Amino acid sequence: MSGRNPAVGASFADRLLAWFDVHGRSNLPWQTPRSAYRVWLSEVMLQQTQVATVIPYFERFIARFPDFASLAAADIDEVLALWAGLGYYARCRNLHAAAKQVASVYRGEMPNDLEAVQALPGVGRSTAAAILAQAYGARHAILDGNVKRVLARHAAIAGWPGTPKVADRLWAISEQKLPMTRLADYTQAIMDLGATLCTARAPACERCPVAADCIAHREARIGEFPSSKPAKARPYRRATLLVVENEQGAILIERRPPTGIWGGLWSLPVAAEGESADELLRQRHGIRIEPIDTLPAFRHAFTHFELELTPLLCTLIDDDAPTEVRERPDQRWLTISARSGDALAGIGLPAPVLGFLSRRYALNATNDTSTSDPCPAPSTASSSGSKPKASRVRRSPAR
Ligand code: SF4
Repeated sequence: MSGRNPAVGASFADRLLAWFDVHGRSNLPWQTPRSAYRVWLSEVMLQQTQVATVIPYFERFIARFPDFASLAAADIDEVLALWAGLGYYARCRNLHAAAKQVASVYRGEMPNDLEAVQALPGVGRSTAAAILAQAYGARHAILDGNVKRVLARHAAIAGWPGTPKVADRLWAISEQKLPMTRLADYTQAIMDLGATLCTARAPACERCPVAADCIAHREARIGEFPSSKPAKARPYRRATLLVVENEQGAILIERRPPTGIWGGLWSLPVAAEGESADELLRQRHGIRIEPIDTLPAFRHAFTHFELELTPLLCTLIDDDAPTEVRERPDQRWLTISARSGDALAGIGLPAPVLGFLSRRYALNATNDTSTSDPCPAPSTASSSGSKPKASRVRRSPAR
């Protein structure tokens, strides 16, 4: 738009498409080639995550899983390891489940039907519409966070878009503005407008192609739209991160339950506030421990609460260790060296746990998740399926 607002005469869609032809993003990795599989994968990854963050993950995924069939056939551990660091791990489990569904029910082809796509795990109305519009040019309106912001400002829609009443109005506006042609480009264009010009904090109205009839801009009320979610205090929780070492200096990790925080990922054991670490480890892993030292706590913010994690160093004790101690599928022992960083990242540990281990063991982790083995081979971050020997109390490495 070269600093000039276009006239109001052209439709919203026409002005947006004219702007998109010059300024839109047309070289994103999922745009060429623009298959339904690639669009779906990118749309799921882009939920709550920015484009720049998604691109390297997308490229690793496509290299390893080029289509629905390969993703559907993969082990969930490998898929989770490639996802590690993107957060919101339920998306990853849904992604895998949806790939299996497409592979088995639709013979590996994304259906061209809004209801069918919306029925796939992890795919909501807006994501389904974006997939069909971009993959097949279907005429469906989208309403992701960026589009809500653009439309709420452009039409001055008051109220938090999370309420059904406000959302219904925005959906209606989004549908009214759809063009008859170029649906794939239009969908990308309105997302680009929200992501690059009509940003949350610093909208560039002087370059906006729809500024001429934007009510919030005309009335200098941009800050009012969209309304914020009514404030609610985020709960605060505490937990203990258990760093259990055996006599070889290997540390215990466990696979977390499939639901809840870090569902299905490998992690150091976590004892909830008030939960006995000794009891937890005895019941879940058949081992007894003796606490050695408490390290400084650190915090991690989840969407709905904040978690304060206090690492507790423990060692195995041999006094009344149960005789039935044995290898368990949800338990691994890792030997960590200074060069373990990348290997640890490949396991798919939650980011705060990986960060803690990196700080404690002075590791050089680059979060290169290309390692497919959920528990890499010995000598770096090695896994040992062998029974952990009960050991004498030993001092922990220096902090
Ligand atoms: S004029 Fe400003 S507030 Fe209105 S849609 Fe464009 S960038 Fe957003």
